[in-house]
Amino acid sequence: MIESSVWHPFTQHGLGEAIPLVTRAEGAVLHTADGRRIVDAISSWWVTTHGHRHPRIVAAMREQAERLDQIIFAGWTHEPAEELARGLRAMMPDSLTRVFYSDSGSTAVEVALKMALGYWLARGEARHRILVMEHGYHGDTIGAMSVGARGVFNRAYAPLLFDVETVPFPAAGHEQATLGALTRACAGGEAAAFIVEPLVLGAGGMLVYPAWVLCEMRAICAAAGVLFISDEVMTGWGRTGTLLAGEQAGIVPDILCLSKGLTGGAVPLAVTMASEAVWAAHYSRDRATMFFHSSSYTANPLACAAAVANLAIWREEPVLARVADLGARQAARLAGLAAHPAVSGVRQIGTIAALEIGGRDGYLSALGPGLLRFFGERDLLLRPLGDTVYVMPPYCIGDDDMDRVYAAIGEACDLIAAGKFV
Ligand SMILES: *Cc1c(COP(=O)(O)O)cnc(C)c1O
Repeated sequence: MIESSVWHPFTQHGLGEAIPLVTRAEGAVLHTADGRRIVDAISSWWVTTHGHRHPRIVAAMREQAERLDQIIFAGWTHEPAEELARGLRAMMPDSLTRVFYSDSGSTAVEVALKMALGYWLARGEARHRILVMEHGYHGDTIGAMSVGARGVFNRAYAPLLFDVETVPFPAAGHEQATLGALTRACAGGEAAAFIVEPLVLGAGGMLVYPAWVLCEMRAICAAAGVLFISDEVMTGWGRTGTLLAGEQAGIVPDILCLSKGLTGGAVPLAVTMASEAVWAAHYSRDRATMFFHSSSYTANPLACAAAVANLAIWREEPVLARVADLGARQAARLAGLAAHPAVSGVRQIGTIAALEIGGRDGYLSALGPGLLRFFGERDLLLRPLGDTVYVMPPYCIGDDDMDRVYAAIGEACDLIAAGKFV
């Protein structure tokens, strides 16, 4: 342990748990100051897609650093931002014609919500209610928390969170309840937008729902004129087996949020892509209707250069084949644990595999800290969501490292089943 003044995110320092000092990374592996070799089985919290320090992304940032580090983006532009916007236009659905930059998934969501409200103000309709899905997660800023699940994470801030209307999660066999609730919420002319994580609710516990439900939800919103915001911050960039999860349902949103894998996971950057109608609502000779949002580092050139390199990797390397291969390797290993007495359920979508261990006690489950320590002692970066253990590695992870991950999960399950897990 090191003497430190650093206050870490989502960390209870009072528990006195050791905080490893990471000095180097490559591919799916982290190296620590004390010489440990750690397998990064959750892609450094869902961001690393191709692997740490992909040579093309590193080179792009290095070259960009020699030319232009940072420039105000209100009324100014630069080549990496322009090139990235062109690349995104070519790669993402045609109807998403406009690219707005920010710095994180949370800000991409804030921007999406503000765009939706601006859209309705410009149209002269008093619509400001945001519809959300139960168990959703969209980030940790006040607006992003408002549209996410309420719980222990945001209890202290509840008085600041705005009201939303929540539709139930479409659990297997209960899909019609979701669709019915969404239809009712869209009626009445107060709903501005519906924000949802397509196909899998990440922080909510890797909860998966079928593509046809996503497709129906999109149609319900379209019929009512309610803007559909797809939060693909986690699901984008191949995580669910396709570039975007929405592809599997054949849907295109009005507003799309991307971050995490946008730079391959190297540096922070986000985009909110909008339809021409959302853009047009803000477009006029009247300065009062411009889009009022900026942050100091909007479209930072180094970050945009990294993202341009990521897009080139997507165009020129067999990324989707790697994703499919990783999915198959996950499936084979997951099958080996599905019938384990300590496992009450398994699910998988694309590169994401999840196991339900014991009962469902929520995020502060009694098993959680023990599991975290157990995996840490085995040099694995795995961070269960309560009783949900999930594996979401960089696409380049090797078979030996995958075997180590699943052997450790199996070992934990054996101890739990034997009542010996502490
Ligand atoms: C991680 C995440 C966010 C927040 O992104 P940050 O970069 O951590 O702010 C938003 N939405 C979803 C679906 C996420 O998984």
